[in-house]
Amino acid sequence: MDFRESDERRALREAVAALGAKYGPEYMREKSRTGKKTTELWVEAGHLGYLGVNIPEEYGGGGGGIGDLAAVCEELGAAGCPLLLMVVTPAICGSIISRYGTGGQRKRWLPGIADGTLTMVFAITEPDAGSNAHRITTTGRRDGDDWLLTGQKVFISGTDEAQSVMVVARTEDAKTGKLKPALYVVPTDAPGFTYQPIDMDLASPEKQFTLFFDDVRLPADALVGADPDSQDAGLLQLFAGLNPERIMAAAFSLGIARYALGRAVDYAKTRTVFKQPIGAHQGIAHPLAQCAIELELARLMTQKAAWLYDSGDDMAAGEAANMAKYAAAEAAAKVVDQAVHTHGGNGLTAEFGMARLLAASRASRIAPVSREMILNFVAMHTLGLPKSY
Ligand SMILES: Cc1cc2nc3c(=O)[nH]c(=O)nc-3n(C[C@H](O)[C@H](O)[C@H](O)COP(=O)(O)OP(=O)(O)OC[C@H]3O[C@@H](n4cnc5c(N)ncnc54)[C@H](O)[C@@H]3O)c2cc1C
Repeated sequence: MDFRESDERRALREAVAALGAKYGPEYMREKSRTGKKTTELWVEAGHLGYLGVNIPEEYGGGGGGIGDLAAVCEELGAAGCPLLLMVVTPAICGSIISRYGTGGQRKRWLPGIADGTLTMVFAITEPDAGSNAHRITTTGRRDGDDWLLTGQKVFISGTDEAQSVMVVARTEDAKTGKLKPALYVVPTDAPGFTYQPIDMDLASPEKQFTLFFDDVRLPADALVGADPDSQDAGLLQLFAGLNPERIMAAAFSLGIARYALGRAVDYAKTRTVFKQPIGAHQGIAHPLAQCAIELELARLMTQKAAWLYDSGDDMAAGEAANMAKYAAAEAAAKVVDQAVHTHGGNGLTAEFGMARLLAASRASRIAPVSREMILNFVAMHTLGLPKSY
């Protein structure tokens, strides 16, 4: 067992950190404040191959794993310029299409995902289903060779900057008549598809949207995967996206937490109000040390989850990815809170930019899966306790 990352992974981290330093927190702040997008950073990261490190080489990607993509996501966050859509486009959509897309779908979508020229967002959450994905009602039904998609989604990140949305829906099984999961890729300019921004109290360039599908006509190959009549097809595809989603959500939280901790430590070393810098007082130093420990533990769990996933052990990766996502989100919430506190009044000024991390770090506890749903998973699957809901 080796607890050091490979030389390649470390070189990747260094290169991405250098890109992040070129953009940094001021760039993000300006984009959030003006409602503009992080297109320059996304395009440059894509051009340098960082957004597609996990996509197979034959489709223009780096041929690496989710661990590489998580490293990219974490380093950009640590540099103060996290890219939320990395959790969605290359990680969820890229993984599902790489694993389950037909030959034609892979050729059509993966090269653009790999080089950053195609943004595909992911829509599962519905207003009346929330954490209970079994209750989703968005439905695809056959109309000749086509599909007609009807339903509604909520909180879908980045819809306004995407060319397409991967939609988790249900469809009737041709043999049994029962409803089963089915994933469709819907172009954002498809007739019958509309979306509205949600007014969020989040300082982020990526916005959330409510989506409406009103008999959206889709060609046969909009359905992800080869065999629409296979009972398990949609479920397997959905599960293929879950571990990458959780590992990347963890990496996203870790990046924010590393950035906040770095800023807090710098401030604690330099701010002097009595005789010594405030960091000399244990009331400031110990909570920051605790943050460093919890952050490192969460990083270790995230790396373990990525390693299990990349080595093909989906079952073990499932448990580890949930634990990593939980640990990283908790660490981020704690670190950001402590970073705000360490800055005193400056923790709430726009100039120091700490308070605007609060909502982002809290969001990590809620999305893409809430801490309670992870605790439910661990209680049932790790501890063997009865299902509580
Ligand atoms: C910033 C942001 C970005 C998002 N981006 C996307 C996206 O791109 N695509 C997408 O599909 N979705 C997205 N979401 C939605 C996100 O995945 C959901 O908000 C999340 O899954 C929780 O669902 P909910 O908001 O409906 O909460 P609810 O399901 O209503 O839950 C409310 C509270 O009750 C708790 N709870 C519910 N059931 C149980 C239970 N059985 N046991 C214990 N506690 C329970 C939850 O943990 C939570 O604290 C995003 C959300 C946010 C905030």
